[in-house]
Amino acid sequence: MASGNAIRGSRVGAGPMGEAERGESAPRTRISFWCANKHETRPSFAAEAVIPDTWDCPRCGFPAGQDEHNPPAPSRNEPYKTHLAYVRERRSDADGEAILAEALAKLRGEI
Ligand SMILES: [Zn+2]
Repeated sequence: MASGNAIRGSRVGAGPMGEAERGESAPRTRISFWCANKHETRPSFAAEAVIPDTWDCPRCGFPAGQDEHNPPAPSRNEPYKTHLAYVRERRSDADGEAILAEALAKLRGEI
């Protein structure tokens, strides 16, 4: 019965055999990721899962990649400087006092 075998072969994994395996845990695979601080983390993924390019390091929060010798660059944590912050940096204390004096003079109606 060659034709019968062909039909059965096309159903591997979809028939009773596949259902019998449902009780077991799904096959998982562990992938190593390394962050810029050389921390290794090995999250496990379902076999059919899409493995992400990067993984957040649970120890330092840096992004980790699968290439141990070329980890992704950590995101810059420099605080964002507003335009006002730059203006304040440029101004000296003397300038600030002059501006304050001028403002007070305006309040007093001297200008
Ligand atoms: Zn890390």
